[in-house]
Amino acid sequence: MRSATSVPYTRQHIDEDDIAAVNRVLGSDWLTGGPAINAFENLASSYCSARHAVAMSSASTALHAVCLALGVGPGDRVWTSPNSFVASADCALQCGALVDFVDIDPHTYNLSVSELERKLAFAEVSHTLPKVVILVHFGGRPCDLAGIAALARRYGVAVVEDASHALGATYRDSPIGSCVYSDATVISFHATKSITTGEGGMVLTNRAEVAGRVSLLRSHGISRPSNEAEPWRYEKVELGFNYRMTDMQAALGTSQLAKLGKFVERRTELAQRYDRALAGLSLQLPHRDADSTSAWHLYPVQVLGEDRSERRLMLFSALLQHGVRSQVHFIPIHTQPYYRDRGFGAGDFPVAERYYEGTLSLPLFYDLIESDQDRVIEIVRAVRR
Ligand SMILES: *Cc1c(COP(=O)(O)O)cnc(C)c1O
Repeated sequence: MRSATSVPYTRQHIDEDDIAAVNRVLGSDWLTGGPAINAFENLASSYCSARHAVAMSSASTALHAVCLALGVGPGDRVWTSPNSFVASADCALQCGALVDFVDIDPHTYNLSVSELERKLAFAEVSHTLPKVVILVHFGGRPCDLAGIAALARRYGVAVVEDASHALGATYRDSPIGSCVYSDATVISFHATKSITTGEGGMVLTNRAEVAGRVSLLRSHGISRPSNEAEPWRYEKVELGFNYRMTDMQAALGTSQLAKLGKFVERRTELAQRYDRALAGLSLQLPHRDADSTSAWHLYPVQVLGEDRSERRLMLFSALLQHGVRSQVHFIPIHTQPYYRDRGFGAGDFPVAERYYEGTLSLPLFYDLIESDQDRVIEIVRAVRR
């Protein structure tokens, strides 16, 4: 239990409707594989304007299944952003493929399009082009999707959006998840994300064959062809997994999705309050883009200067001392021990590393009350004046 005076960096919002929705499923005939899954998938695909939606046990399993559905296997390459959660890269290795990273843009903290262009041109010459690029809408702020899609088309590379932070964001008036610029989009419903099902994820795609393969992989690679002589017939046609969501989770997701608009609206207001209150301090605040809106999953501030690493720790500690939790997003994936053991190291993606040294995500969530946010602001102002 958090004490009355402490402020977490994020917290889910669960109300009576959500609890009633889960309870209805608990009293029904279907705890898994039932109608709540279809209902959630239909709502998500219409909300995001994507033709197909497949509910999954998590975004991590969704990323793995999508990579497999796009044909990623041994000998292939997958590129992603180093400024992400490890799952964005792990999925490539889970398919037996090689992973590499594209350094980030110092202003958006998203994968840099100019760096992608440079790296693709080089990879074409050396015959090391990736099969898939997984881009990450960091903190809820959409990537330059049109720029990335144009490059992907030119080089014949598939695009997957890791939109774990970005459900509720828009890019050029299309909701993130519409897959206008990509082959598939993956969403997370982990407790920290825009809406939650506890654990959970979704694959959105306009490509019927990708949706079909993902749903096959989700359920052991088993299909159920109609067969009058053997109506019980099921056929295992490939090696799959149990990556299914339960009906309790799906019912919670449906109930939560109805509230996404107000969640994002409140997060946007709180972000604007931070913008106004923290302007003029020696901190880099998040930028805005003219052609997109953010889902405001995170509010990362960046401590600048050569001693940013120590000063970021001072800020983190001062907040903690006053009962305020902050977080760091992200430790660059390629600097993790597992990735270091696979040949990556410090200095490989210097923009992401530099960004990491100074960044701190301040509390931002639907139920953050203004007096608590003011406390956060006061502490930050005192430390960073
Ligand atoms: C949370 C997150 C994931 C993993 O989501 P799970 O649903 O917890 O598996 C993947 N990518 C990013 C960018 C995330 O933030």
